[in-house]
Amino acid sequence: MIDRGTGASARALGVEGPVAGKTGTTNEGRDTWFVGYTPRLVAVVWVGFDQRDVLRLSGAQAALPIWADFMRTALGVVPATVPEPPPSITFREVDAANGKLATTWCPVVIREAFLASTEPREFCPDHGPAATVRSFFRRLFEIRPLAPRTAPSSPGVRRGDEDRPRGERLASKGRLPRPGLPTIRARYALHRQGRS
Ligand SMILES: [Zn+2]
Repeated sequence: MIDRGTGASARALGVEGPVAGKTGTTNEGRDTWFVGYTPRLVAVVWVGFDQRDVLRLSGAQAALPIWADFMRTALGVVPATVPEPPPSITFREVDAANGKLATTWCPVVIREAFLASTEPREFCPDHGPAATVRSFFRRLFEIRPLAPRTAPSSPGVRRGDEDRPRGERLASKGRLPRPGLPTIRARYALHRQGRS
């Protein structure tokens, strides 16, 4: 539907009801398009110069207002009904930022249509308890690194270790924080060493 993305501008231009659409702009802005439809009506608008001069406008700027102007009138004659998706289309709730299957912790979730068997199968790795704990420790350890000042500023990261908090990596290599560091970090590192 047209409530999201570039087509959402059609709403602002006064097109109401269930319609779907997409803009298009070719390289260098020589051709701009908007295609939009309802179950009973489809309209495509192309804007460009016959001599293929550069237009310097996007599909949303050039073609969409013309499409909207036409549809506002046409929908009065051929009212839109809600389109029925064909059986080959499946719907999934996905994280708007990464397109992975949404979890209850994802901040922005959208319902997306997929051709059956092309839908995402992996859950969002960026939100949820594990990701929250990971980013908490990442922030905690990156604000004031555990490594002494003389050590290289970025200690080598073993393959597969990239996702672990930095302090955990250091602790697992046997490095302990210097005395006088905030208690929570020292305690965490000691715990990793099995001493608490
Ligand atoms: Zn997410």
